[in-house]
Amino acid sequence: MTEQATPNEPPNVRQARASLALHVDDGTGYCEGCKSAYSFFVPYPCTVHGWANRTLIIEGTPR
Ligand SMILES: [Zn+2]
Repeated sequence: MTEQATPNEPPNVRQARASLALHVDDGTGYCEGCKSAYSFFVPYPCTVHGWANRTLIIEGTPR
C-alpha cells in the first residue's frame, strides 16, 4: 500500500480503499481481484468494486 491511511479513517473506508486497489480490470474485461482472491471470473466492475465506490461516496472521501 502506497497510500497513507488517515488516523481516524473508519475500518470500512480503509477496506474500501484496499478493495479498489485490488479489484481492477485485468485487461480482458474481468476483475483481477476476484480472480486472485476467489478464483472467480467476474465481469469488471465487480460487486466489490461497486461496494467500495459507494462506501467512499457515502463516507464523503472518494479518491
Ligand atoms: Zn473484484
